Amino acid sequence: MSLTNQPDPEARARVVAQDLQNVMHPLVQHKALEQKQMVVTGAQGSTIVDADGTTYLDAMAGLWCVNIGYGRTELAQIAAEQMQAMAYYPHTAMNLPAAQLAEQVNGLMGGGYHTYFVNSGSEANEAGFKIARQYAKHEFPGEFRFKTISRYYAYHGTTLATLAAGGMGDRKTKFEPYAGEFVHVPAPTCYRCPLGLEYPSCKVACAKAIETTILGEGPQTVAEVIVEPIMSGVGIAVPPDEYLPMVEEICRKYDVLLHVDEVINGFGRTGKMFGHQHYGISPDIMAVAKGIVSAYLPIAATVVKNHVFESFLGEVAEARQVMQVNTYGGHPAAAAVAVRNIEIMLEEKLPERAASMGAYLMDGLKDRLFRHGITGDIRGKGLLIGIELVTDRESKVQLDGALVQGVLDHCKAEGVIVGRSGGGARHSNTIVLSPPLVITRGECDTLIEVLDKAIGAAAAKRA
Ligand code: PMP
Repeated sequence: MSLTNQPDPEARARVVAQDLQNVMHPLVQHKALEQKQMVVTGAQGSTIVDADGTTYLDAMAGLWCVNIGYGRTELAQIAAEQMQAMAYYPHTAMNLPAAQLAEQVNGLMGGGYHTYFVNSGSEANEAGFKIARQYAKHEFPGEFRFKTISRYYAYHGTTLATLAAGGMGDRKTKFEPYAGEFVHVPAPTCYRCPLGLEYPSCKVACAKAIETTILGEGPQTVAEVIVEPIMSGVGIAVPPDEYLPMVEEICRKYDVLLHVDEVINGFGRTGKMFGHQHYGISPDIMAVAKGIVSAYLPIAATVVKNHVFESFLGEVAEARQVMQVNTYGGHPAAAAVAVRNIEIMLEEKLPERAASMGAYLMDGLKDRLFRHGITGDIRGKGLLIGIELVTDRESKVQLDGALVQGVLDHCKAEGVIVGRSGGGARHSNTIVLSPPLVITRGECDTLIEVLDKAIGAAAAKRA
């Protein structure tokens, strides 16, 4: 596949007909697909191409995941070679690529970790919940530590447990009720503080709420706290610098494990290899997916600190082993591709590039977009950026959803794909950007230019 592929209207029409007859798509109304749809046939760098020949700058890196950019054909070679040598064997045995990948990931954490392989971010968090509970069963036999404390508006995945842990109203409500083991606390969404406070006079009350909640629930019932270091789905929330160190201290005080969700933050996105590394904390459990393999094949992992891992050791008769299996966990071809993906990231210094290109993009966005009265806030770290749209900066009232969607549609019509936050009415008015970490300055300029026009048009419509 390359960007030089010729438009083929007949082939395109065949795919559309076959798809509409047979496929059930996520998150889009099929009625909308009947009217307009993309048939993506090629991709290179930060650009994708539709079968009708239209190219788009993909400022979302797919679903926040193609960190090293599209079109790295050497990865196809690696997958093919691994499949020819040994396509699959379950991970109850060992294989070289998975061992290499685990060593690499543990090394990026500075050592002292072991890695359990799964296939998606949801599974990585779900395995984290289960590891936290099993650990508690081993370590606190007289207690019943099964609860996870998480934040409102968080997104941790699409399975029932990860949805229950999450706090995104619109994604959750259709599947209620959930079992009650996930307890929510206010999130550090400072632009709209859920406690009605202002930083720094708030003294980071949202972190303290975790302690109050642990005490209220009873520490002997709490297994872990899960946090996405820089919240993404909610429209990008960068916590105050003290927040995560305070959360870590509270976890230590009550013997509660700290579980970080690095599914989006991880692998360079925020300008460091992992998002939590901005804050000097040391998680007990870390979920990674997306950037670990830049979505070239599916693989994900739950990375656990050695004191947790050691709790799973013992005599055979004790049956302390990880009590779950994922058929495709540690898949050799996916692991081999992930190993090379991480090498590319390190060789090309992509986390550092995300930091510098992110700063360039952020400066340009602030310079141009605050000229429009409907730009309420621009925030983020590295190449993870949110632009919150409001009716006016004073009132901070969320911009009407149709106008927010209009900005996305305008950008797309100009050949740029941007995203929109989820989280229900309270938080879906933010444009989100998460481009491949290889995005160029010229592409950043295009992105700024197009967003400026699109937000300007929305502002004019409102006027
Ligand atoms: N955690 C976070 C922070 C995510 O953004 C996502 C997916 N967008 C997930 C978990 C779930 O990952 P997956 O879709 O691979 O299951």
